[in-house]
This record gives sequence, structure tokens and C-alpha cells, in this order.
Amino acid sequence: MATERPLPNLWHATAPAAPGTAPLTGELRCDVAIIGGGFTGLSAALHLAEMGVKAAVIEARTIGHGGSGRNVGLVNAGMWVKPDDLIATLGAEAGNRLLHELGAGPSLVYELVAKHAMACEAVRNGTLHMAVSAEGLNEIREREAQWQKRGAPVEVLPAEKAHVLSGAEGFTGALLDRRAGTIQPLAYARGLARAAIAAGAEIFTDTPLLAAERKGDLWKLEAGRGTLTARHVIVATNAYGAMVNGTPWKAQTRELTILPFFQFATNPLADRVAERILPERQGAWDTGLVMTSFRMDQENRLIFGSIGRLDAMAEGTHRAFAARSLRKLFPYIGDFRFEYWWDGRIGMTTNNLPVVHELAPNVISVSGYNGRGIAPGTVFGRALARHVTGDGSAIPLAQTPITADPWRNVKSAFYHAGAQAKHFIDRRF
Ligand SMILES: Cc1cc2nc3c(=O)[nH]c(=O)nc-3n(C[C@H](O)[C@H](O)[C@H](O)COP(=O)(O)OP(=O)(O)OC[C@H]3O[C@@H](n4cnc5c(N)ncnc54)[C@H](O)[C@@H]3O)c2cc1C
Repeated sequence: MATERPLPNLWHATAPAAPGTAPLTGELRCDVAIIGGGFTGLSAALHLAEMGVKAAVIEARTIGHGGSGRNVGLVNAGMWVKPDDLIATLGAEAGNRLLHELGAGPSLVYELVAKHAMACEAVRNGTLHMAVSAEGLNEIREREAQWQKRGAPVEVLPAEKAHVLSGAEGFTGALLDRRAGTIQPLAYARGLARAAIAAGAEIFTDTPLLAAERKGDLWKLEAGRGTLTARHVIVATNAYGAMVNGTPWKAQTRELTILPFFQFATNPLADRVAERILPERQGAWDTGLVMTSFRMDQENRLIFGSIGRLDAMAEGTHRAFAARSLRKLFPYIGDFRFEYWWDGRIGMTTNNLPVVHELAPNVISVSGYNGRGIAPGTVFGRALARHVTGDGSAIPLAQTPITADPWRNVKSAFYHAGAQAKHFIDRRF
């Protein structure tokens, strides 16, 4: 397993405690084994348990160790790809179905949060896609037109209104999507886990899947210090699957390009400053080529993110860029310091859409959310639960063979080095 630098992640500092879990020991039988304790696996576990199906999650590390405990917390509707492009890739029928189900994704998330009383800083006031330059404004106008013709409550705000709602300088407009919102992502993952356990699912942490063997029509999984036997297996390891070797379906990870993304969170800001930044508490990101994001948390910390990995060589460059960016975007910010910083791996696919694979008989996986996994992971987790219980049309995306991307490592290295170079120069002048 690859080692990672331990970094101070804000979400770990402010999330309610995880439900009590332990590693798997001994032998266990269940109906459905789920590999990976992020939004996808936990949503699958919750929905299976609610259907009365015996489900067990095995998580190599801790609940939300992967993208689910590291992301920005923007609960977006739909994918990052523009709706018309999605239809061009998938065709009208399949495309419209996916758009419909993912468009309703935030509603599913906020319903689960309310139903299970999850304390996860949930705010549903929309998100702001901030336009950089005239070109960026054209881009969000295209998105507005494409979503509006499908009845979605999105609107382009002119520069002045975008300035008031974001508190930030320099943007040419913003697309407000009222379906969306923000959450504390690790708190949401832990909330899903708690709800799944309450409904009857079992979750084992520090329990990596090590090997898998087909015995008749069952799968026997070696995991941590135990074994798990199940008829169905759901693989929900997404961009973190590459960290664990030795499984027969590891080929899946060869198709994902890893896009690194970091965040820096300030100390709680003074009230007079915090009231001006995102006063209605939307989360924001921009149309820039090297994208940046900003949002507030419940304690008035400002969280800034962009592309890049916080390895020992790059951390200083990204930190200086984050500080310069905040001073340029919010000239009234005054003194601040960064109290938390962390990074994560985003799993990208060649067509920017998720992929669904039957990796082996009764082994199904979904991955490649392309940076949009909170609502889609929750939706696909529920769909996987319905699929393994016999609903053949539950998954809103056709299953495809794995297509290894020979350029994935080159692209990942390019993202890392390119972002570092851009951040070294950017916003200095
Ligand atoms: C920095 C960052 C910012 C992002 N921002 C947003 C955002 O604002 N909005 C949004 O919608 N999405 C965002 N995303 C994407 C989103 O976080 C992911 O798409 C989502 O978390 C994927 O959930 P998952 O459950 O499929 O996978 P993960 O949460 O990555 O979970 C996979 C789990 O599998 C475990 N695992 C791996 N191998 C094994 C094994 N062999 N045995 C057992 N367990 C194993 C890992 O430890 C991990 O916990 C962001 C992602 C990152 C990294």
C-alpha cells in the first residue's frame, strides 16, 4: 500500500466521531460484500440494509479515507460535462436518464441527511460557478441554456450580483444552481455509516481486501485478518483502489487518471469579514483552466482549493498561491493563517463520465466520478443496491468493458507539474 504524508485535514478536526467499528476477524457470511467505505459503498450498504439484505462493508483504512473525506463538499447536480455533451456521448435516451437521476442527486443527499438526522453542516442554498473572463462568461451561459431547456433552476448572475453573492473580486459573472448546496463531506460519510449500521449493515475498518476466490456461486474474500463469503460483491474503491494490490479486479484502476486537488483552510475569520464572503453560504468554483474553489465552513473558516498535490516539494508553492489568491479575491480579508491543509485524488475518465463494470460474475463496480462524487456516489450506491437485489434496470448507465488508458500516468504527472508551474506564477502580478 502506498504511503501518504499525514496532513492536517479540516474535515477530520470538525466531523462528529465515526461510529464504532473494528477490523474483520474470523469468518463471516453475508449476501453482499462491499469494498470501500466512501459515499458509494456506504450508500449501497444503507440501502441494502433498509431492504433487509445482509451487507458488509470492508474498508482498508477508516470511513471516508478516500475522496469522501477529502473533497470540497459541493453537492452538485449532474456531472461536470455539459448536458448536451453528455447526450452526445451517451445518446438521447441513456443521456437523459442519467441527467435526470443525477440532477435529482442533491435531493437524495439532503433527504438522507434529514431522515437520519446527520450533523454534517448541510446547507442547500445553491452553488456558484464563477466566470473568469469573457470566455468564462460564455461558458456558463452555455451551461445555463442547456440546463434551462431541461427545466433546471439555474441562472447566470451578472458581475455585480456575482460579486455580492461571492464577496470576491474579479469575476465576470456566476452561474447559480439552486439544486445544489454544501456539506461537511467526512461528516456526511460518517452519517451514512452510522445510518447503515443502525439499519443492520456491518462495517469493518482497517480491513483491506487482499485476495478473492470464486467458490461455486460464492465469492470468498480474504480481508484483513478475516474472510468474508458473499454471493455478490460491490467494488466502490474509485481513485483509491490503486492503493491496494493483489485483487483479481485491480485492472479497473488502469483506466482512471488521477487528478490531484488540495485545499487550505484559514483560521475562523472575524465576523465583519465572514459576513461579506459568500454571505448566503453557497460553495464556489471557477471556470479557470487550473480550477480553484472556495467555500466557508460552519466556524467561518475560508477554504480554498485548486489542482495539485501537497508533496514536500510542491506544498510551499501551492500554499503561497492559496494565500496570494485569497488576498486578491478578498482584499478586505486582513490577517489570516492557514490552520489546515490536505489533498486528495480525483478519478478522471477519458469521456469525463463514470464507468460501470461487471468485473467478474456478480462483481460490479462504479468509478470515475470526475470530481463529482457526493450526489452521484450516493445515487449510484443506491442503484448498485437495487441492482444486486435483482432490479436489472436500476443503474442509470450501461455497463462497459474496462478500457485501460495508456496515457493515464503521463496525464497525472502533467496535471501535477502543470498546476505547480501555474501556481508558481499566477496572481503575482
Ligand atoms: C480533493 C477532492 C475534491 C473533490 N470535490 C468534490 C466536490 O466538491 N463535490 C463532489 O461531488 N465531489 C468531489 N470530489 C469527488 C468525490 O469526493 C469522490 O468522487 C467520491 O468521494 C467518491 O466516493 P467513493 O465512495 O466512490 O470512493 P472513495 O470515497 O474514494 O472511497 C473509496 C474507499 O475504498 C477504500 N479501498 C480502496 N481499496 C480497498 C481495498 N482493497 N479494500 C478495502 N477498501 C479499499 C479506500 O480506503 C477508500 O476509503 C472531490 C474529490 C477530491 C479528492
